[in-house]
Amino acid sequence: MNISAELISIGNELLSGRTLNTHGQDLGEALTAIGLQLVRDTTIPDDIPTIGSAVQEALSRVDLVFVSGGLGPTSDDITRDALGRMLERKIVLHEATVNHLKGWYKKRGRSITSAGERQALVLENSSVLPNSIGAAPGQRIDLSGDKTLFVLPGPPNEFNAILSEEIIPWLQDRYTDARPRLVRIVHTKGIGESDIVTILEQASFEPEDVDLGFYPGMGKVEIRLGADPEKVTEITQAEATLLDLLADYLNVD
Ligand code: ATP
Ligand code: MG
Repeated sequence: MNISAELISIGNELLSGRTLNTHGQDLGEALTAIGLQLVRDTTIPDDIPTIGSAVQEALSRVDLVFVSGGLGPTSDDITRDALGRMLERKIVLHEATVNHLKGWYKKRGRSITSAGERQALVLENSSVLPNSIGAAPGQRIDLSGDKTLFVLPGPPNEFNAILSEEIIPWLQDRYTDARPRLVRIVHTKGIGESDIVTILEQASFEPEDVDLGFYPGMGKVEIRLGADPEKVTEITQAEATLLDLLADYLNVD
């Protein structure tokens, strides 16, 4: 089973260099762990037409699309308007979220304003995903063709809370056949990438059904082998060959 996902992060601050976009790493790790694949990570500005076209294009490519940012109370928080226009869905006030927000503001000694209440606006027919640590909830929007759009707030702790508490369990229930890809890692030291490649080329090391990734660091290279879950024999054999070919350069510390 090959289920692919794309992430679209929205925010001018992510493009100007003010804020490091951490969602790709967090989402990639969480999806990989349950056997789903993040295949594209796009960052776009706070702009309604750009949001609409980016989400539409992603939905034409993959089954799962995650959109983050721009759900708060401020004038630059335009994500739900952009998605409402693109999907031709009304935006409605979610009463349970209004009550949650009232409690959330009260706990902080404040009362909710009409701007604050905007955070309880959701797309019609979406499933609201409670935000256990912040104000704006996430949303799951089921679309035709078994496609799913997830909409999540921008702050990384809120993004991650909704992801781990609401979305990952839902995906595990939905894609029960998904299995994480196999991964094996060979650590080398004292040899550069180009010399490793020469050794592998001389030995005609081109394992079938196994991908290779080379990740150089200070005087070390990490070689990652990846394969589909049923390719245990192939990855085990490729790993053994690699360990043999690079026996003089293994970093076993
Ligand atoms: P809020 O209700 O807090 O406004 P929001 O959903 O509207 O949430 P944004 O306004 O886009 O989200 O961003 C809120 C905060 O989270 C900002 O400080 C922003 O820089 C940060 N943030 C947004 N997206 C990301 C991201 N992809 N990676 C890291 N930080 C992010
Ligand atoms: Mg905001």
